[in-house]
Amino acid sequence: MLEKQFNHNLLYNGIVHFYIDKKLYSKEKANFIAQAIVKKEAQKRICKNKTCKHFTHNHIRNTETCLVVDCKCNQFTK
Ligand SMILES: [Zn+2]
Ligand SMILES: [Zn+2]
Repeated sequence: MLEKQFNHNLLYNGIVHFYIDKKLYSKEKANFIAQAIVKKEAQKRICKNKTCKHFTHNHIRNTETCLVVDCKCNQFTK
């Protein structure tokens, strides 16, 4: 489940096209790389606070208090 602000498909397609068109990789290899990069990018946007695990955009100015109802997190943890 990915946040709306993070356009997963756009990033994914962009990476696949880059590796196929510019690096001349096979479709399988390009898809494999795109999956790894998208997964890593998504992880970066999730709060590592054990009781939170919400996305960056749920936090005020991306680093402070989480706005999700019932969430007690007050600092985005990277
Ligand atoms: Zn939270
Ligand atoms: Zn948090």
